[in-house]
Amino acid sequence: MTDTHAHLDACDAPADEVLDRARTAGVTRVVTIGTGIDSCRRALAIAEASTGVVAALGIDPHRAATPEAERVDELRVLLAHPRAVAVGETGLDGHHGADTLPQQRILFDAQLALAEELDLPVVIHSRAASEETAAALAGFRGTVVLHCFSEPELLEPALDRGYYVSFAGNVTYPKAEALRECAALVADERLLAETDSPYLAPQPVRGRPNEPMHLRHTLSVLAETRGADVGELEARLDENAARAFGLAPA
Ligand SMILES: [Zn+2]
Repeated sequence: MTDTHAHLDACDAPADEVLDRARTAGVTRVVTIGTGIDSCRRALAIAEASTGVVAALGIDPHRAATPEAERVDELRVLLAHPRAVAVGETGLDGHHGADTLPQQRILFDAQLALAEELDLPVVIHSRAASEETAAALAGFRGTVVLHCFSEPELLEPALDRGYYVSFAGNVTYPKAEALRECAALVADERLLAETDSPYLAPQPVRGRPNEPMHLRHTLSVLAETRGADVGELEARLDENAARAFGLAPA
């Protein structure tokens, strides 16, 4: 299995221990996500040192109103690394930063342009900003991964435009019926699963620090929701992850 979104540099436990536990649980590939320049450097160091780990590199929307937003050129340099496979996470957050949305949009647009320039997929964070995110992405010509999908309003543009839709542990929560309805509607070849470790631990381990080894809980809820066989869904999602991020087939 491939965990398409984890913050290995933000996990308390050392990455090699986390990855050992992941492999034991059948998670052999992880896309680790950088959220700022220092975090991106750590993500790349982990990817370099670990089998089965690649990195997405971005400056997240929470840093849009900080000096970090001026460092997109440094991102371009880091993205030349052979283990860097995507731009992100990047996007818009109206929940944690409604007052900085204009700055977030500028930083988001700069990273979309970078993804087009480098012909890399883009990993999107969108929270309480579905309309703005859909508008910002309207002209983007590359591959889009909607990480931690949690805005049902984004489903229609996602389906229309062929975006990859990645579900995290929150799709397993009892009150997440609307998200599960969305998960049932995503095309077979566009569905992804992630942990967003160390955040959003799925229901059976909720409240604990999340790790890639917990991906299975999210996958089994997705399978149940879609009336799919879990083994077949695992194989399908692994193919999808490889296609989305340009990885060699597992
Ligand atoms: Zn994330």
